[in-house]
Amino acid sequence: MLFVSRRARELGTENAFVVLSEVEKLQAEGKRVVSFCIGQPDMPTPDHIRLAGIRAITEGKTGYTASPGIPALRKAVADYFSRTRGVSVDPGEVVVGCGGKPFIGYTILSVIDPGEGHEVIYPNPGFPIYHAQIAAHGAVPVPLDLRESKGHNFDLDDLRRKVTKKTRLLILNSPHNPTGGALSRAEMEEIARIVAPYEDLWIYADEVYCALVYDAAFQSIASIPGMRDRTVIADSASKTYSMTGWRIGYAANAKLAPVFTRWVTNTDSCPPHPNQYAALEALTASQEPSEKMREIFRQRRDRIVAGLNRIPGFRCLKPGGAFYVWPNVTEACRMVGAADSEEFRKMLLYEAGVAVLADIHFGTAVAGEGQHVRFSYASSFEAIDEGLERIAGLMKKRTK
Ligand code: PLP
Repeated sequence: MLFVSRRARELGTENAFVVLSEVEKLQAEGKRVVSFCIGQPDMPTPDHIRLAGIRAITEGKTGYTASPGIPALRKAVADYFSRTRGVSVDPGEVVVGCGGKPFIGYTILSVIDPGEGHEVIYPNPGFPIYHAQIAAHGAVPVPLDLRESKGHNFDLDDLRRKVTKKTRLLILNSPHNPTGGALSRAEMEEIARIVAPYEDLWIYADEVYCALVYDAAFQSIASIPGMRDRTVIADSASKTYSMTGWRIGYAANAKLAPVFTRWVTNTDSCPPHPNQYAALEALTASQEPSEKMREIFRQRRDRIVAGLNRIPGFRCLKPGGAFYVWPNVTEACRMVGAADSEEFRKMLLYEAGVAVLADIHFGTAVAGEGQHVRFSYASSFEAIDEGLERIAGLMKKRTK
């Protein structure tokens, strides 16, 4: 029989896409669904960026480029990283890829050897690709549980216990998907103290939501003394400039840049040529559109958090960043007789026409943390109000 490898058969995925197909099926049947599933800004890519992409196409910039990207874009990313992270980044350290996502796999592939018991610590709940890639490449996944009582961050003592001589990589994601939590500078300083004695330990700083921080300045662990050389700064144009489909992301690390370049040569050859010009425009032109977008998201966050906290059974912290909220629905599940967040999610979808993701889509249950669902508030104020109203109606109708 034709063989499919175990790693392929067991490869994890983003279950958000499973829920999306459920939503699309309902919509095709003519049902109106208010969706809070999608992790991308609902605003179009700003005009000047789109025009830069079109100009590049009409000028014939459509062939292969160097694998790490065109020099002008690598320089623009280096300047942007230097400006926003408070560290000095050289263009030679920067590699441009097809989105931020590929750098997760490239980094794991570059710092672990399969079967050696090399451990990778990652946030749980977290972006599901972390676990999928750690397992696929033969490293040992070590989940670092996030706790509501810590503002949806992890307990630093827990990290201290989990770091060992076998740890090769610590994945940090601030601001965080799915909770919206952000690490403070003090927490980053403590993380730096914890990892300092471990010379083989790399940090993957997934900072794709860095432009969406609401109540404080964005902080990168790369700026903490001693962390710069061991940190991969990873970011992308997707969320900051509403460019998810353009597939442009970037990472910086002096030692790994040549390695990443080889991975890009081995996989995509290079990021899409005209799109690199669009990203160049995004990074070098006025940042006003991105700042305006952040302000809109901040207002939506305040609206959805206040609204959720008014619904009986919901308890929602106000997250510091990204465009997600992660309300605790343990009591709501109890009130409507749902066994867990997944059953509750289905009730919201099929009875109230509101689409959210459940905590099982982001990892394994954390003992003592109860049930959670994720709302992406990358949707209009009207959709937020309508969604909240529908949920309140369902709770009223269903409460036993
Ligand atoms: N990292 C996190 C935490 C994300 O939530 C996402 C997308 O949702 C990505 C990385 C990948 O983003 P992209 O590949 O579009 O840059």
